[in-house]
Amino acid sequence: MEKKKLLIVEDELTLLETLKYYLEGQGYEVVAATDGAEAISTARIEKPDLVILDVLLPGIDGFEVCRILRQETSIPILMWSAKDEEVDKIVGLELGADGYEAKTINTRELLARIKALLRRERIVRDEIESSGQAGPESPNLGVVFSFNDLVIDDSRREIRRGDEVLELKPKEFELMLFLARNRGIALGRSLILERVWGWDFDGGSRTVDVHIRWLREKIEVDPAHPSRILTVRGIGYRFDG
Ligand code: CA
Repeated sequence: MEKKKLLIVEDELTLLETLKYYLEGQGYEVVAATDGAEAISTARIEKPDLVILDVLLPGIDGFEVCRILRQETSIPILMWSAKDEEVDKIVGLELGADGYEAKTINTRELLARIKALLRRERIVRDEIESSGQAGPESPNLGVVFSFNDLVIDDSRREIRRGDEVLELKPKEFELMLFLARNRGIALGRSLILERVWGWDFDGGSRTVDVHIRWLREKIEVDPAHPSRILTVRGIGYRFDG
């Protein structure tokens, strides 16, 4: 039987080597990437059967890698992270990851998850093939969210309200897109900062408040009494659509 190919994306080299050694010993072919950009290019070239994806990576983070890969492929993506925040798990799964584990998981458990995901993938493939629906995957070139008169169009990188195209700064767009992707979920300021501005940004959480205010002025009927982007006391914000 042909070896299954796993792509491990991990910037902690000791951990990467340990895991690679272990999984090769279990009969898998293992390819590796140590940052987000390398992860995407390696996935495209190597076409692995499954990706193990770290969240905190230099450059493009694991969430963004997951989002990009998910637009191109349906292979199982198992995200893992040293942090075990519940909201991370939700964001990861909303972006299309198939599983989410804390790095405290032991190697045997991890192996069991990998096997389960590969098995599930095989079953799904068999079902598609036997039902005759197999075909080239349609590329998804950007998501469009619409909430009544508000349309957030990732492919055109624009937001429309009714017939009007809103004038937005790039970060306002990114923030709005992030809120829309996580509609209905209370998002902390630090999480928003991390996802929209990146880890190395040190402008402080006031930046989030200022951008939220600008967005409200553009998308709310009454910015002083917002009904779309709500303040969640003690946490941050929640987009309700
Ligand atoms: Ca990392």
